[in-house]
Amino acid sequence: MTQCRECNKEFISYNPRQEFCNDYCRGAFHRRRYRQQAVEEAEDRREARLNGHGTEEERQKASEVLARIVAEAGSGKPKFVRRI
Ligand SMILES: [Zn+2]
Repeated sequence: MTQCRECNKEFISYNPRQEFCNDYCRGAFHRRRYRQQAVEEAEDRREARLNGHGTEEERQKASEVLARIVAEAGSGKPKFVRRI
C-alpha cells in the first residue's frame, strides 16, 4: 500500500513511483507547490524592498504577483465563511 501525498489515503500502487491516488490529487499537489513557490519568491522580493535594494519596478511586480496569487487562491471558494 502507498499513501497518497495529497489526501493521505492509502491506495494500491501499480507503479512504484506513483505517489498519488489519482490524477486529481497529483494535480492539486503540484498546483499548491507551484503556488507556494510563487509566494516565497514574492516574499523574497518584499524583503529585498524592505532592505532597500528593490527598485520601483520590482516593488510593482512583487505586489502584482502577490495579488494574482491571492486571487487564484480564492477562486472557486467562498471568500468568507459565515458562521452563525
Ligand atoms: Zn489522493
